[in-house]
Parts: sequence; structure tokens; C-alpha cells
Amino acid sequence: MPEVALRLTRRNHNAFVHLLAALETQGYALGDILVSKSLEEIIRAKPKIVLYSFYSQEVWDVEREVKLLKERTGAILVVGGYHATAMPRHTLRMGFDIAVIGEGEEVLYELLTTLGRTGYKVTKDLLNVKGLAFYLGGEFTFTGFAKVMDFSKFPPYPEALRLISPMEISRGCPFACYYCQTPYMKGFRMRHRPIDQIVRYSRRMKDMRYITPNAFAYGSPGAILRLDKLEALLKALQPLRKEGRRLFYGTFPSEVRPEFVLPETLELLVQYTDTTRLAIGAQSGDDAMLKAMHRLHKVEHVVRAVELALEYGLEPVVDFIVGLPNETEESQRKSIELMKWIMRKGGKVRAHYFMPLPGTPWARCKPSPLSDEMKKFLGKMAAEGKIEGSWGMQIEISRRLQRLIEEFYEEPFSYHGKVLDICSDQKFITQAEVGTTVNAPRKL
Ligand code: SF4
Repeated sequence: MPEVALRLTRRNHNAFVHLLAALETQGYALGDILVSKSLEEIIRAKPKIVLYSFYSQEVWDVEREVKLLKERTGAILVVGGYHATAMPRHTLRMGFDIAVIGEGEEVLYELLTTLGRTGYKVTKDLLNVKGLAFYLGGEFTFTGFAKVMDFSKFPPYPEALRLISPMEISRGCPFACYYCQTPYMKGFRMRHRPIDQIVRYSRRMKDMRYITPNAFAYGSPGAILRLDKLEALLKALQPLRKEGRRLFYGTFPSEVRPEFVLPETLELLVQYTDTTRLAIGAQSGDDAMLKAMHRLHKVEHVVRAVELALEYGLEPVVDFIVGLPNETEESQRKSIELMKWIMRKGGKVRAHYFMPLPGTPWARCKPSPLSDEMKKFLGKMAAEGKIEGSWGMQIEISRRLQRLIEEFYEEPFSYHGKVLDICSDQKFITQAEVGTTVNAPRKL
């Protein structure tokens, strides 16, 4: 029976596919790991270590699983991901034994080989493995934030297991939106997989889809457009399209920032891809809210992006967050107006309710209640099938997250050290105090 088991879920699937590839590249025999979506199968296997990864929104379900795993396997429970990095003390309190802090590719290999050597126990040998938090002799111990400077040294998919997922082609984001965990976990500078590697492994996908914070920023540090690199990537994937694969770009599971939606980027999309829906992050119809959330674009960029997408024959699918901290009825009215306009024009809207996420500057901010007008609007649009998104369900998750963060708040570990804590003392810092707004990406 394998001594290591990995609990695969719908939400951690993509991350684990990439991590397994990294383990394999470093020489770890994947045949020694039971990779399973079935908790029962893992329990029956009685492994010595169980690997786990989850998001803050899943805490309550995961707690139940952790209890079962502890009681019925006695395994060392190792966990990574956004929640573990931002709230390691809380994560350990949930019942996990070791939290991986930061980017996991190298840590996991070091950790598994160390645990194998030391009889699957938490010992001081783990102090030599950077990127961990655990209790040693009752003391909370942190060995440093793990960073993988060049994530492309690890291929995206393992050879020994038939696992596939959309491919992570870029990592990190300079925009630092206050509600988003990505830049604080992966850094402010975008890093990219090289084109030849993307092409080589894209062969394994039938529909080629990619994971990136902003698909149009491929090849750039993040805030500028590198049309030459974007075109080179899309061009290089053409032989695979000719073999019958479809290429989807700037759409599920990634999206694009509105100010990157330009005639030049859309021309590339139309010429080189099979994309029919363009996923655009708008988040609010109120410039004041966009400024407060550090989006660094304006409503006019969203309007232009939607108009351009339609002009190029693409269906814009536009994301909004409602119930933002300090969002007034008037702000919500502006979002409603923009959503209505998008739908009238022929686009789609996806609505999400604000969820305070650990490790972000807005972690301690309170969601705002939805105005009656907003509730009525979203309800009517959802009933008519005109609006997508899980805003209804997210209201309850948001409340639970808020309570959890209030009760167990800890200063998060992050890629760049201290994370701004905008709403502690319920003081809301205006954007004027912390940054500026840019209008459009510079092109190189
Ligand atoms: S929401 Fe998007 S643009 Fe903003 S920080 Fe996150 S990944 Fe970057």
C-alpha cells in the first residue's frame, strides 16, 4: 500500500496536477502516491501521509474530512494552498500537521523525502525545509516563504499519471487588487512558461485552455502589453489547431483585464484562436469603488472592452463583485446600470458576492449589504437565466469567512512580506492615500 496519499478534489485538481509533475521531475516516484478523489479509498489505504490543498471558502467541509482522516488513519496531514499560506495557525488548528507556505513545487519534494527519512514524524529535521509551518515541541515554527523563481523548470503534467488540466502558463500579478490572493501568494511580477514548453504540453489537451491571471499579458511583467510575445505564443499553437485541437484563450478558466482589450489583442484572438466568449474582469460600475479596490482601471475601460469584443464577434462575459466594502446604494446602482447595459448590448454578466479572503488587504473588511434594488435586479436576472455566478450562495460563505477571520486573525505570510490591512479598526483608507490609477497598458 502506498505510504503517501493525495486527496484530489474538483478545486485542487489543477494545482495538484502541476505539483505532481514537479515532484516527478525532481525524482519522486509517483507510483508511490495514491492519488484519489475518494476519501474512503484514502482512509482504507491507511497512508502515513495525506497531501491536501484547499481554499478558504472550503474550510468547513475540509474540517470534517480532516477529523475523519485523523481518527481513521493517524496519518501526517500536509496541506498547501492559499488558506494554509495566509492563515497557517488556523490551518494547523483545523487538524493539519504541516502547512506548506508559498509556492509548493520544491517544498513538497523536500518535505516528502525528509518525512520518509525520519519515519514520518514531525522532527527538527523539518527546520531545514524552507516553506513550512508546524508545531515543534509546542512552538509554532515557520521556516520561511517558499518561492520558485522559475516555475517552468517543472513541466505542467506528470508522465507517470494520466492527469491533465488547463495549463498554468503565467504566475503573479502586479495589479494587487485588494480582494485578490494571487499577487500576495505568487508575487507582483508576472512570470511565464516559455512558448516551446507550452506547445509541447498543449498536445495533451483536446481543448487547449490555460491558467493565467491576465491572458493578454503573456510575456510581460504584467502591467504592459507584449503583443509580439502574445502573437508568438498563439502562432506557435497553430499546428496543434490544425491537428484538430481547439484553442481557447482569454476565457475559462482565465480572464483578461479590460484595459488590455484592444483592437490589437482582439485581432490576435480572432485570427489565432477558437474563442467565442471573452472573460473580462470589471468588478464594479463605479469608478470610486474601482479606485478603492485598487483595480487600476476605470468603468470606461470596461465599456470599451465590451464594445470592442462585440465588434470582433466575441461574447463578452463580464465579472462583477457586489457587496463590496463601503459600497453605497448609489455605487450598487452604478453597477446595475453597467450590468444592464452589457446585457442589452448582448454580453453576459457573472455576479459574485464579496468574500473577504485571508492574505489580502481586504481580509478584515466587511461586505456591504445588497440594496433592495440590487437584490431585486439579481433575483430577476437569475430567474430569467440572464446572469451567471454564485452570488446567492456566496453571501452565506462571506458571512462565515468574516466570522472566521475575526476570530482567528493572524498576520499572513506573503510573497512580498507585509500585506496591507486596509480595514483594521474599520478605518477605510482611500485610494488617494495608497496609489494611483493608470489608464491603459503601455505597449512594447
Ligand atoms: S484580480 Fe486579477 S488583476 Fe487583480 S490582482 Fe487578482 S489576478 Fe491581478
